[in-house]
Amino acid sequence: MKPIYLAERTSRIDASGIRKVFALASEMDNPVNFSIGQPDFDVPDALKREAIKAIESGFNRYSQTAGIEALKTKIQGKLQHEIQWDDSDVLITSGVSGALLLAFMALINPGDEVILPDPYFVIYKHLVNLLGGKCVYVDSYPDFRLPVEGIRQSITEKTKLIIANSPCNPTGMVYSRQELEALAKVAGEHDLIVMSDEIYGQFCYDGEYTSMAQCYDKTLLLRGFSKAYAMTGWRLGYAAVQPCLQPLLEEMTKIQQYTFVCAPTPFQSAAVAALDYDVSPFVAQYKQKRDLLLSELSGPFELATPGGAFYAFVKSPQAGATEFVKKAIASNVLVIPGNVFSEQDTHFRISYATTEAEIKRGCDLLRSVFT
Ligand code: PMP
Repeated sequence: MKPIYLAERTSRIDASGIRKVFALASEMDNPVNFSIGQPDFDVPDALKREAIKAIESGFNRYSQTAGIEALKTKIQGKLQHEIQWDDSDVLITSGVSGALLLAFMALINPGDEVILPDPYFVIYKHLVNLLGGKCVYVDSYPDFRLPVEGIRQSITEKTKLIIANSPCNPTGMVYSRQELEALAKVAGEHDLIVMSDEIYGQFCYDGEYTSMAQCYDKTLLLRGFSKAYAMTGWRLGYAAVQPCLQPLLEEMTKIQQYTFVCAPTPFQSAAVAALDYDVSPFVAQYKQKRDLLLSELSGPFELATPGGAFYAFVKSPQAGATEFVKKAIASNVLVIPGNVFSEQDTHFRISYATTEAEIKRGCDLLRSVFT
């Protein structure tokens, strides 16, 4: 076979961490699956009907690049009400993943630095590397609070962007208003953009949620529909800015025009109804799952209490979390080694987006690996 001369950028990204786990998983029989980052409920029926209605009424063509007017207007109203953004601009994207690609493409030159707390959501690292940027990791172990002082010390002439993700994947941490205000102060001193990934914003269990957007004008706000409404396959999210970042959103829209073209049109239509849908019963269920996981694991395992999302980042009881994960998988529990989300291999991620019976079964098995 003739060699395929791939672009050099493909060598800068690496899927091996997760691939290795799934290769092991293919041999498992009825495993407890603590690896999946999506809700275990289905899209609410009322929202499915909205999508079906949109398809049947011929709402199947390209939309405007930036999204349908009804959805944009609805989101603008919501931002005005929730975070007092009176004059926001919105771009509907193909998931938050789509928004991340557009944002990085619009912002990152080769050599530009992006500051992100470690552990981090895995896409950030790989997209920044793909574009020739440089990730500057700021350790947030062992409590995973927002490492504002570390971020301040990491800022250089080349810093282009700071990423904040609250509630955080993989740690489940929810940052307080005080932490976000401290970050706003640091970013403001250097006039830097903060990208706030708030895809898990509805999943908060211990009090009010504060958005970075409430603390800092130069926030590129990213939110999505995948998690709150279990629409991971519908590929819908949005980016929003205040007038000071309008030129960034304009460039992201231009790039969308030549890449995704638009987010899926019938699902944009259903998303208008989703924004009025009450997800609090789901959130209450997930709080119960979080509490169950904590009561099953804390003690034998060391873990910082996750206040949101549906993940816990648990310290491996032995040196080398990947080795522990191999043992866990051999005992039929599928978890992800922490080095997929981090520069260190000391923890593993549990997704508790499963039934309470499975959470119990999985925790029993994890304890048995440990003892
Ligand atoms: N950000 C975070 C923190 C996530 O966990 C995910 C999904 N796992 C995404 C963004 C992307 O979600 P989507 O593209 O489905 O909107």
